[in-house]
Amino acid sequence: MNDDVGVVDPGTPSIARVYDYLLGGKDNYPVDQEIGDHFKVDLPGSVAIAFGNRQALVRAVRDIARSGVEQFIDLGSGLPTADNVHQIAARYTDGAKVVYVDSDPVVLAHGRALLVADENTTVLRADVREPERIRHSDEVNRLIDFSRPVAVVFSAILHHLNDDEDPGGVVSYWCDQIPSGSQVFISHFRSGGNAETEAAEQKLQSTFGRGRWRTDDEIRALFGDLEILEPGIVPAVLWRPDMPDGSDPSIRGIGAAERELTVWDRLISAGLGRKR
Ligand code: SAM
Repeated sequence: MNDDVGVVDPGTPSIARVYDYLLGGKDNYPVDQEIGDHFKVDLPGSVAIAFGNRQALVRAVRDIARSGVEQFIDLGSGLPTADNVHQIAARYTDGAKVVYVDSDPVVLAHGRALLVADENTTVLRADVREPERIRHSDEVNRLIDFSRPVAVVFSAILHHLNDDEDPGGVVSYWCDQIPSGSQVFISHFRSGGNAETEAAEQKLQSTFGRGRWRTDDEIRALFGDLEILEPGIVPAVLWRPDMPDGSDPSIRGIGAAERELTVWDRLISAGLGRKR
């Protein structure tokens, strides 16, 4: 296992811990709660966005696993939450292998504690901007067989990469590594062209020095040559919002017929691509 554990700094807000706070988690400090409260008060859709995104990810992992893909690399995975990729995948396939990757030391600490007895899942502290390092890490080498389809998950991570950090190049690196039949999930903040979403973007930029909302065209471009699967790149709450038998109703998205989408629903898009 990689020993680059990093140091948890309770005095500086962290993206992972603020997101955990918005999802109702306990792995955060007052400094994260203060930022999270700003989001909750100034941008009242923040909690809904976090849940809408997470539930779309749960549905995507479910469908990826059902389609027969058993290996997952979850980039910018965040802190363990109620339902994690390896637990979702395990419901639909035997022996799923999962590598979680995040740059935040707190994710590594909690991930290791959660996964202590799980030989099919591991967590690596690394920066998504260094895909080659991740690809050749001991963790990925041990668990992922690149001759078989792999799912690469970019859930709410690429908007934390500024343009000069080449998020499209990061996706395309992984697309070159994975074989035909592999799948790539991306959820991403999208520009709403309105005051609410601009305020959210500014808040993230001023707090973390990063946060790049992208237009629909820019998000589509991140998928490169992948075949975009149904229903396309849509607000996360509309991404396969069905509730098949046996599914937990809490992961259900919403249908446009059920209510009008809010400005917050439209702030985050999701899509699933397949390598031809
Ligand atoms: N993927 C999870 C989800 O969708 O529920 C968590 C999303 S959270 C908004 C973004 C995560 O990306 C945080 O855990 C943060 O630490 C991580 N992150 C941000 N920049 C990163 C980077 N350059 N490399 C690795 N992880 C990063």
